[in-house]
Amino acid sequence: MTAATRGDGMIGEDVTQNVRTIEAVPLKLRIPNNAEIKQLKKDFDISEKVAKFLTTLHGRIEIRGEVYIPKKDFAKLNKELEKRGEKTFANPRNLAAGSVRQLDPAVSASRPLNFMAWHLDDIGQKTQEASMEILRLIGFKTVPGERGKKIEDIESYYKHLAKKREKLNFWIDGLVIRVNRHKIYKKLGVVGKTPRGIVAWKFPPEEATTKVLAVNWFVGRTGKLTPVALLQPVFVAGTTVNHATLHNAEEIKRLGVKIGDTVIVTKAGDIIPKIVGVLEKLRTGKEEFIKIPKKCPVCDSYVGKKGDNIDLYCSNKNCFSKEKERILY
Ligand SMILES: [Zn+2]
Repeated sequence: MTAATRGDGMIGEDVTQNVRTIEAVPLKLRIPNNAEIKQLKKDFDISEKVAKFLTTLHGRIEIRGEVYIPKKDFAKLNKELEKRGEKTFANPRNLAAGSVRQLDPAVSASRPLNFMAWHLDDIGQKTQEASMEILRLIGFKTVPGERGKKIEDIESYYKHLAKKREKLNFWIDGLVIRVNRHKIYKKLGVVGKTPRGIVAWKFPPEEATTKVLAVNWFVGRTGKLTPVALLQPVFVAGTTVNHATLHNAEEIKRLGVKIGDTVIVTKAGDIIPKIVGVLEKLRTGKEEFIKIPKKCPVCDSYVGKKGDNIDLYCSNKNCFSKEKERILY
C-alpha cells in the first residue's frame, strides 16, 4: 500500500507510514464473496470483467477519502491532555491533517485518526453508487450519501443533513453533489480544474451564544487600532472560540454591543470568529459601554482618523508597536 496527500492535485506527500497506523484503513483488502458479487451484478449492472477482478483483487486500485477525527474521540483526547496538564487542540480538522503529515508515525498512531472513502478509481464500474458499494465490500467505511432522481430530492437531503449534522459523529460543512453515471460525468468534462459533474453545497455557518468578557484594542503594523472581544470560550463549528474581531468603532456602534453582553458568534471554515448579534433581552443592567480609546494602548500617543476612513490610528510615527512590527516583518 502507498498513501499520499492530495497536495496540489498532481503531487502530494508520501504519508504511507502514517496511514498504515489508521485502523479504518485495511492493510489487506477484503475479497467479496460470491453472493455479494451476484448482488452487485444485480443492483449495479457490473460487468464480468469487474466481477472477476473483485474475486481476486490482483492489481492496482486507487481509493480517495478523508482522514478525520470523530467528535467523541476528539473530546476524549482533549480531556486526557487536560488531565496531564498539556495543551489541548482547538480544531479537529487541522489536527487530522497535521497528524497525517507527522514525521514520526508513532505520533500519528497516538491520534484517534479515522478514514472514510468517497472515490474509487475506474475499474470498469458504471456509477458512483457502484463505487461506494464496492468500497464497502472491500473493507472501507464510506461517506454517507443518497441517490436523488431530481433536484427536489437533493434539496430535501440537504435540509435533512443540515438538521442532522450536529448529531453526526464527525463535522461536516456541506454536501457534495455528483453525477452518478460515470459516462455522463466524463462527458461533462472539466472547467479549469473543476469537473462539471460535481458541485458543493455548503451549510450556513454555525452559530453559538457566549458572553463578552472584555474588549482589547490591538495596534497593527500600520498603526491601526482594532477592537477584539474576549469571549467566554464556546465551541462553534468544530473549534473553541475565545475571541472575535469587532473590526472598528463603527461596528461596535452598529452592533450596540457592551461588555458583559450575551452575543451570537459565528465562524465559517477557517475565517476569524465574528459577532453577528447581541441578545439584549438577556441584559442584567451591569453591562458596560466599550470605551473608544483616545490614546494609543501601546505608546499613549493620541489616536485619530485618517481622512474619512472609519478606522482609528495611532498618531505616533514611531509608535513602539509599529517599530516592533517593522523589525519583525
Ligand atoms: Zn502608539
